[in-house]
Amino acid sequence: MSLHPWNLDLWRELTGDRARLPHALLLHGPRGTGKREFVADLAKWLLCEAPGPEGACDGCKSCGWFDQGGHPDFKLIEPAAEAGKEEEPGKKGGKYITINEIRQLSDFLGLVSHQGGWRVVVIQPAEQLNAAAANALLKTLEEPPANVLIALVAHQPRRLPATVRSRCRKLAVGLPGREQARDWLAGQGMREPMAMLDEVGGAPLLAIEYAEPERLARRARFLAAVAKPSPDGLSRLAQESQQRVDECWGWLTRWLYDLLAVQGNGPVRYFPESEPVLRHLAAKARPASLWQCQQEVVAAGRWLRHPLNGQLLLESWLLSYLDTLEAGNGR
Ligand SMILES: [Zn+2]
Repeated sequence: MSLHPWNLDLWRELTGDRARLPHALLLHGPRGTGKREFVADLAKWLLCEAPGPEGACDGCKSCGWFDQGGHPDFKLIEPAAEAGKEEEPGKKGGKYITINEIRQLSDFLGLVSHQGGWRVVVIQPAEQLNAAAANALLKTLEEPPANVLIALVAHQPRRLPATVRSRCRKLAVGLPGREQARDWLAGQGMREPMAMLDEVGGAPLLAIEYAEPERLARRARFLAAVAKPSPDGLSRLAQESQQRVDECWGWLTRWLYDLLAVQGNGPVRYFPESEPVLRHLAAKARPASLWQCQQEVVAAGRWLRHPLNGQLLLESWLLSYLDTLEAGNGR
C-alpha cells in the first residue's frame, strides 16, 4: 500500500472502527502531504474483500479492479482539465467541477452496489466545485445513502461553502516532522533532502516533484550564474528563465537570504551545497546594500502576477544583485 508514514496515525484514528466511519469526509491540509494517496488507500480498503488493519489485501478481485481504475463501486470526480478529458473534441476541459459531474454522481448512487458492500466517491480538489455543483452535492450530503462514503479532498477548505463543510467529518493532514520527512525522502533516494524540504516549505511530495531532473538542471544553471556573476551570464539566465520567472525569483530570494545569513554568521538554509561560494560572495558585498537588494527582490515578487515582461524584470533583479557585489569591492 502507498500510505505515507506520517499519515499512519490518522489512518488508525479513522479506520479503527469500521462501523463508525462517516458518510462524508473532508480531508484537508497543505499540498504535497499525501491526501490523494490517503483517500485512494481508504477507498481501496473499503472495497477490498479481505482488508487488513492497515490497508487493502492487494490480492483480491476488487483490489485488481481498483488498481486498473475500473472498480464499479468507485467513482472519482475531478475537473475535466485535471482528468485530461476534453469537453468538446479538441477543446481542453475546464478547471471546475460542474453540475453535470455531480448529476452523474446521483445516477451512480441510485444504483445498488455491484459487490453488495460499500460504494466510494472521491471529489478532488473539492474547492473546484462550482456553486451549482456544490449545491447539488449538498442534497446528497443531506440524505446520504447507506454504505456510501463521499470523500472530499481540499487544499483550501475555506473555499468550500460552509454548508458543505458542516456536513462532512473533517480530517486534517499536516506536514510531517522534519526528521521523518527527511528520512522518508532519503529512503526514496533523494540527495540533499533537507535543502529540498526547505525550498518547498516542508511538504515531502512537493520535494519529490521539485527534485525532478529538468528542474534540478535549471537550478544548477541558476547557481552557476549567481556564483560567478557577470552581466552577460546574468542576462542569459534572465533570458533562459523568461517562461519561469517565478521559479527563478524564488531561487534568487533564497540565495540572497542565504548570503545575508552567512554575513551575519548564521547557517546556510537553502543552498548548503554552495556554502563556500556563499561565504566568498558574502565577504565581497556590503551588508547594507545586500539587505536593500534582498528587500527589493522580495517586494518585487508581487509583480510576478502582473503581465509584465518577465525577462526584463528578472534581468533588473539580477543586475541589482551584481551591483551589490561590485559596490562592496575594495571597500
Ligand atoms: Zn483486496
